[in-house]
Formats: sequence, C-alpha cells, structure tokens
Amino acid sequence: MNSIRTRFAPSPTGFMHIGNLRTALYAYLFAKKNQGQFILRIEDTDQERLVGDAVSAIYSTLKLANLRHDEGPDVGGPCGPYMQSERRDIYKKYAMALVDSSHAYRCFCTKERLDALVDGTGNRRYDKRCLHLSPEEVEEKLARGAPYVIRQNVPQEGITTFSDLVYGEISIENRELHDNVLLKSDGFPTYNFANVVDDHLMGITHVFRGMEYLSSTPNYNLLYEALGWAVPLYVHLPHIMRDKRHKLSKRHGDANFEDFLGKGFLPEAILNYVALLGWNPKSEVEKFSLDELVEAFDISGISKSSAVFDEVKLRWLNAQYIKELPLQRFHELAAPRYRAISTPVDFNLLSALVQARISALSDIPEIIEFIDSFEGYSLELFENKNAKSSAQLAKEVLPAAIAALEGIENWSNDALFAALEQLTAQLDLKKKQLLWIVRIAVTGRLSTPGGASEMCALIGKEQSLCRLKQSLCTLCAA
Ligand code: GLU
Repeated sequence: MNSIRTRFAPSPTGFMHIGNLRTALYAYLFAKKNQGQFILRIEDTDQERLVGDAVSAIYSTLKLANLRHDEGPDVGGPCGPYMQSERRDIYKKYAMALVDSSHAYRCFCTKERLDALVDGTGNRRYDKRCLHLSPEEVEEKLARGAPYVIRQNVPQEGITTFSDLVYGEISIENRELHDNVLLKSDGFPTYNFANVVDDHLMGITHVFRGMEYLSSTPNYNLLYEALGWAVPLYVHLPHIMRDKRHKLSKRHGDANFEDFLGKGFLPEAILNYVALLGWNPKSEVEKFSLDELVEAFDISGISKSSAVFDEVKLRWLNAQYIKELPLQRFHELAAPRYRAISTPVDFNLLSALVQARISALSDIPEIIEFIDSFEGYSLELFENKNAKSSAQLAKEVLPAAIAALEGIENWSNDALFAALEQLTAQLDLKKKQLLWIVRIAVTGRLSTPGGASEMCALIGKEQSLCRLKQSLCTLCAA
C-alpha cells in the first residue's frame, strides 16, 4: 500500500463534536486530494464511556457531511475489522510480543496502591514497581488469577524526537513520559496502544488528530520502534475555542454538529465553516464546496494556534448557502417549520420570500409569526421619518388603499404592486409612504419577509382587506 491513507477514529461517546468533524474533514480532504483512501475506525474500547446511539450518530454525520469513507465497519475493507472491540486478539498478540521483548510488563498493582502514587498536583506517575517482579513472582500471581494490566516500559534515559507536520520538531525527555497502560485488565486495549497497532496494520500514512495527543506521541513512537514498525506522519490540529479562554462546550450548545443543525444551519455550510477553523486557504475565498475544499486543501495552511468558533461568521456563510438552494429544496427544508401556521397562505410565495431573508432555518418562526398573529400592535409602527409616514397619514390614506385593493380581481403580487403604484400617483404621495403604511397595516410588524404587495399576496385578499380595515378602525379610535 503506497498510496496516502488517512483515518477518522472517533470514540462513540455521544454526538459528533465539531472538533472531531474537523479532524474527519481534514483527513478526508488530504486523502482525496492525493487520490488516497479515507478510513473510518470506531474506537469503542472504553466500555465505560460508550453511548448507545453514538455509532449511528457517527455514520449519519459523515453521511450528512458527505464525507464518504472507503473502508470502515459498515463498508468493510482489506484491513478489518474496523471496530476496535472486534480486534482484541490482535492487540493481545502485540502486547504479549512487547512483554516478551521487555518493552512492556505486567502490572498487578491495586487501585489503592495506584491512588497512593498521586502527587500533590493530582498527577500520578507509576513507579515501575512491577517491572522489577521476578519471573517467579509473576508466575505466582498469574497462577492465583491476580488481575493485571500491561504497561509500556518507557526508557528513563534519552530523548524522543519527532516531527509533526503542523507543530514542527518536538523533543521530549523520556523521563517525562509515563509507563502507560496498554492493555487493561478486562482485555481491552487503551487508546495509547490501539492507535499504534491499528494505524500500522491499517497502513495509515498520515495521522490527523487533535493536539491533545501531541504530548503522548513520543510514547507511541517508542511503541512503533519496539515493534519494528515505521512511524506514520503526524498532523496534529489546534483546539477550537468558543472564545479566547473557553473550549466549545456541551453546556453552551455549541460543541456538537447536531447543535448547529438544530439551530438551522445547513450541513454544507457547517462543513465549509469548520474547514476554515484552523486552516487558511491563503486566498480571499471563504465559500468552498466539498470538491473545492479537496482542491484547495494543503497541510501547510493549518495553523498552530487555536481557532475561535464565530457563530456570526457561520451565519453569514449559511445565509449564502440558503440563498443558493433551489426554491423547491428550500421549501422542503422550511416546510416543517411552517406546520404551526393556520392561516391559509401561498406557501410557495412564502418560501421564496423567507429564503431571501433568513440566515438560518431557525429564523423562520419569528419571521412568519405575523401570519397568525396580528392583534394589538403599536400604532407607533406607522411613524417612520425615512418613509415620511405617520399614523395620521395612515388614517387618511387607508380608505383609498382599501378601495383600490378591493377592486383587484387577480390577487397577485404584480397586480397589487401596480395598483398601489397607481394609487400613489393619484394621492400625490411618495411610493415608500404608501407602501410603508399598507405593509404595517396588513402585518402589524416592523420587519416582515417582504414588502406591502408581497405581504398582501401572501395572506390573500380576504385576510388582507380584513386586516387593513381593522387597522383603520384602530387608527380612527386612537
Ligand atoms: N478515539 C480518539 C478520539 O475520539 C481518536 C483520536 C485519534 O484520532 O487518534 O479522540
């Protein structure tokens, strides 16, 4: 296998975190840019942290984001199984090989003993006690079935140096490294072991992952070396923050892909925005389709510093994606949010108007609220200096507007607009004066998804005239 192979290796512990989605995206982009393969591996070895539907959330997120994997638990491939819980025999075999070559050892220490090794700063450093057990002592413990883990035997001297394609050359003194647990007493591997075994056996050439793994990478390199395997190239990615000091968090509803879908962002827009979190396309362009991202992506554009998630920018991008949707598609997406409307309206016209004005689907309820709710608006809305409109003027011109609109047979936006335009001339008004008055009188809202004629066309003749008359009565009574 000479070609580029990258992998996305999520742990099924809940919804898809935005940081994970970015890792998947970059790994995908790099593989596709280089005609390589993108592999999905499910890291389900931490049995305590597994969450029921999390594996389906991974599949559905990748599908929505259109990141198709070439190999994975659901599609198979030559390096399976791709579900770590199904690879336990493999890890065991290599863990034993490491024990045999003294790069690892069995540790029988109890939880109490390990807890006692925690220092004042809350850190625990294993003191290699079990490394020094004699073969007889080990035999004796095994014979009476004492539970044990397998730990990496990290050398105490020397320096481990490696080069990360984002963070450059990194050197760590081996005495800083821990004797990590490789295989737990339940026979499951830890991430610290499984990632090495699997990345090697699956032929991964470039490991994309969060920078939280940077500090343990020397441990992994020592394992590659001990097993006689080539170390892959590393691409560690900077953190994504909510602001300068805080990471994205579940509590703020800004950590997961699903959170943003729920807020009415389109998957394409989220993905496009996520691509820009920590990667600079080195051009003015910010809007990229997935294919364009494949074309433009380059590891040299990945930044070392944290990226701040800016929801305002995501909104801006999302608005562009929304406007570009074919009307029918927009209508399908918007329709569930129209369900509560009880007034008969022209839904196609509604979609066309709403599509042009919103930046997220979740803006819909507010912008359509006037359709069913009209009563009790403030007459101050008629006062507008710019439009040279006032409640007094509204009282004067509404009777003529009602009469003009009553005469319209073909109740369409064009016919309505023409009638209002004609009336403006007759009454010697400015167009914007009459349009402001009619729009307020028919909606009772300052901001609406369209102008006067569009609003009348939308809610129909009967409802429009009824509202105009009601507004006139209120004005007269004030
Ligand atoms: N299972 C790890 C996680 O979800 C993957 C890290 C990696 O990509 O190697 O954080």
